[in-house]
Amino acid sequence: MHHHSQIYLDGAWRPSRGTDVIEVVNPTTEQVMCAVPQGTSADVDAAVDAARRAFPGWWDTPTARRAEYLGRVADRLEQRAAELAVLTARDVGAPLAFARAAHVALPVLSFRQAADVASAYAYERQEGGSLIVREPYGVVGAITPWNYPLHQIAAKVAYALAAGNTVVLKPSEVAPLGAWALAEIFDKAGLPPGVFNMVSGTGAVVGEALAAHKGVDLVSFTGSTAVGKRVSRLAAETVKRVTLELGGKSPAVLLPDADPVEAVPRVVVNAFLNSGQTCSALTRLVVPRSRLGEVERAARQAAEAMTAGDPLAEGTRLGPLVSATQRDRVRAHITRALDEGARLVTGGALPPDGLPRGYFVRPTVLSEVTPRMAVHRDEVFGPVLAIEPYDSVAEAVRLANDSDYGLAAAVWSPDRDRALAVARLLRAGQVGVNSADLNPRAPFGGYKQSGNGREHGVLGLEEFLEIKSVQV
Ligand code: NAD
Repeated sequence: MHHHSQIYLDGAWRPSRGTDVIEVVNPTTEQVMCAVPQGTSADVDAAVDAARRAFPGWWDTPTARRAEYLGRVADRLEQRAAELAVLTARDVGAPLAFARAAHVALPVLSFRQAADVASAYAYERQEGGSLIVREPYGVVGAITPWNYPLHQIAAKVAYALAAGNTVVLKPSEVAPLGAWALAEIFDKAGLPPGVFNMVSGTGAVVGEALAAHKGVDLVSFTGSTAVGKRVSRLAAETVKRVTLELGGKSPAVLLPDADPVEAVPRVVVNAFLNSGQTCSALTRLVVPRSRLGEVERAARQAAEAMTAGDPLAEGTRLGPLVSATQRDRVRAHITRALDEGARLVTGGALPPDGLPRGYFVRPTVLSEVTPRMAVHRDEVFGPVLAIEPYDSVAEAVRLANDSDYGLAAAVWSPDRDRALAVARLLRAGQVGVNSADLNPRAPFGGYKQSGNGREHGVLGLEEFLEIKSVQV
């Protein structure tokens, strides 16, 4: 990694027009690892120009050829998997094995899958007297968060490029190292200059410039709901397409016949993956009041088994939060929940024992959480699980859906039909039944204020395709 001091523009590493930098901190050691340029709106102008110039040629490139480039990117990501996992453990604080299995493996899959989906897609069809043609928008602006940095980038960039768009990426300034590695890989993969560009910097400067830019045809944003609204407002001035993948406060509903001993540990692990910094984390456990004691015992045990420590050390299951800011936010959420009457089952806002350095938070379980409490509504983005008791299945569904968010949900019951019937009532973009895993080929996106787009698979490709009807 030699390019941290530069941005990637028009097929080459170049200096930013600005001179300020952003320090990148290792959340485990609290040490500065390197610094990346704090890009400027002039950098965005140059990147958008390059992407505009590259667009006609890339659009004209046969899909199979574009797919070849993406396959090459996937191969190179895979070749560097071990190194990228260590990089992610340092940058985000994700335990090494998880960094490899999710942070690195998912992007490899996304590049391959985007290539496959784009190759198999029918871009033209006849409908009545019209020819319906799907074609790329032009220049896509991609703005991404720090929690699964490479995965969030791949979900946009791989599909946007596969569809024939050119891209300007603004990665998160909080955990940017994966983005640099990816830009190096694009550089080596020999893509035509300007097809992929990356400008680093703050959201306030580079993110806003990209969202507002007249030369950007579509802005694809993943991040918080508050910033997503801001991006939409800026984008409205030029009526560009906006797709948003935002936050969540997702429920897992245990139906009365579900076995807490089986279900609860899995929900706890899901909620605390990536230190709870997962947009689709199941952070509300909605349970029959009659089984509250059993549920709390199982949750305590599972949470206390999440050994916290150095992400690079064998046996660590919970790394630090990504930054001091996030740690302080999460602790404040815990304190507020306790003030509002939630009962502490395990964890709490105090610093964990035996970890003098690093932005760690105790794995925390709160019980008897009710809709009056902020922790029922607000995305905490840390290892904090809220248990919410119900008295009837109708109330369980009401509680589960009582949210401005609608990203994910889960329902547990040994009776598949009963579980499916409840799954159909949950207002969320993805619903898991029992221990079903994430399917990385299924469309991923939110209902309500969790967003308005879908990523991955055929629908993830169509996000990046404009529609033309030709009457002949
Ligand atoms: P964030 O909203 O703070 O930042 C996301 C990106 O937007 C960053 O690159 C940031 O620099 C940029 N940004 C900030 N202010 C901006 C502005 N005014 N204009 C334009 N861009 C701006 O989010 P974060 O803290 O990086 O990530 C965590 C959030 O992302 C959580 O809310 C999480 O739920 C959400 N998320 C959602 C999904 C999903 O697919 N639905 C996936 C991952 C994360």
